[in-house]
Amino acid sequence: MPQDDASRPARPPRKQPAARRPPPAGARKTPRMTHAQVLGFLDALAQANPDPRSELVYADPFTLLVAVVLSAQATDASVNKATVGLFREAATPQAMAALGEDGVARHIRTIGLWQNKAKNVVELSRRLVAEHGGQVPHDRAALEALPGVGRKTANVVLNVAFGEPTMAVDTHVFRVANRTGIAPGKNVRAVEDALVARVPPALLGRAHHWLILHGRHVCKARAPECWRCVAAAWCRFPDKAAPPARKPPRG
Ligand code: SF4
Repeated sequence: MPQDDASRPARPPRKQPAARRPPPAGARKTPRMTHAQVLGFLDALAQANPDPRSELVYADPFTLLVAVVLSAQATDASVNKATVGLFREAATPQAMAALGEDGVARHIRTIGLWQNKAKNVVELSRRLVAEHGGQVPHDRAALEALPGVGRKTANVVLNVAFGEPTMAVDTHVFRVANRTGIAPGKNVRAVEDALVARVPPALLGRAHHWLILHGRHVCKARAPECWRCVAAAWCRFPDKAAPPARKPPRG
């Protein structure tokens, strides 16, 4: 006896093919720049800022080393505020060691991780006096053996104080290198190696500053300001940002 429609088991609904959605912004992979594009990108940054400088205030290799150690997880502006008084009181390894942890801490309490940093700054000063005649060593291994000094800090000191063709990769450089395609890499060391291999040695000193400053002020973490980027023509980021929409005038 034939079943009527109501007594038949309902068929599962047919699966609809998934609609194709465009990839979310930022999800597309940036291709690696060609050598000519790397040079064009750097040249655009050079034309806009021919003589880039660190935003940290320092007077010599020692005050540079201390400022960079203090800048971990802190802004350059906050470090500069703290070092005005600190360097007025102690601008040499001997004076810094004599100032002691409490004396250093008095000046740097406004910046992150100040307790550890005070300890490191005093100990590294003491070691500079005891092991290096009160001088900052022009040597990676000796720098990295100092308390609070890692590869990135050593790279900054070697590059800025001694003119070595090194590249310090901080969060800004890492982002810009990957986002633009100038030197993509999965981790900080891979990006450092790629930049050292791809940027002409004569430009490495300034490229370090160009990339940091560009990442800090234009190619920002949350939203790159591509519409006002001097290097946009060379950048290979596939999701460049359009200028923000203007609000219509009231009334
Ligand atoms: S065009 Fe945009 S993504 Fe590319 S470097 Fe400039 S700001 Fe960064």
